[in-house]
Amino acid sequence: NATLAAVDPEIAAQIAHEAERQHEGLEMIASENFVSRAVLEAAGTVFTNKYAEGYPGKRYYGGCEFADVVENIARDRAKQLFGAEHANVQPHSGSQANAAAYMTIIEPGDTVLGLDLANGGHLTHGHKLNFSGKLYRIVGYKVRQDTEVIDYDQLEELAVAEKPKVIVGGGSAYPRQFDFARMRAIADKVGAKLMIDMAHFAGLVAGGAHPSPVPYADIVTTTTHKTLRGPRAGLILSRQELAAGIDRSVFPGQQGGPLMHIVAAKAVAFGEALQPEFKTYAAQTVANAKVLAEAMQGEGFRVISGGTDTHLMLIDVFAKGMLGSEAEVALGKAGITVNKNAIPYDTNPPMKPSGIRIGTPALTTRGMKEAEMKTIAGWIAEALENRNDDAKLKDIAGRVTELAEQFPLYEFLRA
Ligand code: PLP
Repeated sequence: NATLAAVDPEIAAQIAHEAERQHEGLEMIASENFVSRAVLEAAGTVFTNKYAEGYPGKRYYGGCEFADVVENIARDRAKQLFGAEHANVQPHSGSQANAAAYMTIIEPGDTVLGLDLANGGHLTHGHKLNFSGKLYRIVGYKVRQDTEVIDYDQLEELAVAEKPKVIVGGGSAYPRQFDFARMRAIADKVGAKLMIDMAHFAGLVAGGAHPSPVPYADIVTTTTHKTLRGPRAGLILSRQELAAGIDRSVFPGQQGGPLMHIVAAKAVAFGEALQPEFKTYAAQTVANAKVLAEAMQGEGFRVISGGTDTHLMLIDVFAKGMLGSEAEVALGKAGITVNKNAIPYDTNPPMKPSGIRIGTPALTTRGMKEAEMKTIAGWIAEALENRNDDAKLKDIAGRVTELAEQFPLYEFLRA
């Protein structure tokens, strides 16, 4: 019955520091969010002890009666939330969801047409060091250099020339909406499957602030921890005809026992996303991003593709005379967490790229709105201009914490 603080004060202290860090700063990493207390509670439960290999009603272990109820609720809520015929809630992560999705519809050596990493795609869409790049023949499509958005005529030409077995849409740093209907038409023309990885914008889809890929795609994969605001994990949605294949690919294809505590937390998060308040959240997340992008442009920064339709934007800081890596460090000192990011056709290397990626999901969860976004854009500009002046950055960090304290986070942890 000893507490964590008693058993392992070293780790307990770091957890407390992390809670403090999350509270005091401005979390603007586009792929992060703050789960509710209810989700956090579900994730830290005795379900972490339970093996539940298999699926509800067909398990390889006894004692799964409560796990079955939890997983069925999670699946039903996911299907309802996204209007999907089938949901698999077991993937441990977005990467594993994508691995299982590929395993269901293609064979090693088959061609995958996915958005190039440097153009906003994800590692699992074909990076050479990732399983996807090692197992499959990857062809990357790019955004246009002049508009920095996807040119679907070019994508169609590439698909006709390369004859992929699957076309993948979605990415980690693409600020615009994908044209799912056009991608479906291209996939049909070349006899490919269409897979949409909506990891970044799933919460916007759930909240009705972004079109849904579900009616168009054969398979939709996602993480559950970004805009969707659930625990760190993955989810796969599909048409009924692929259901058995997807389930086999997840277990036993890619995984053993599901993380039942995380499946429970996913069920809670999906339940939250079904509430009317989540619509308000999704709309505000996009509104905040649009205002932030405009305010950054007002500060003289070049925003990739001229703006955003989603929760994230890419800023070309190299155009202002600094690397993304330098910008990330300076903003970190000012209490604003972002990540360095390549921009399309980047002339700088990945660890020292030309851009930063900024997102609004976490700050919107804290209750921040347009007015705060404008203030923050001013601070970002001030910090980047004074990136070598530690005293100035510290001064900004003080203002950041004052603002953060007006939007308390996890008060029960701080009591
Ligand atoms: N797919 C996309 C588009 C992502 O952005 C990410 C994560 O950044 C993933 C998949 C992978 O998710 P995970 O980190 O859970 O493996």
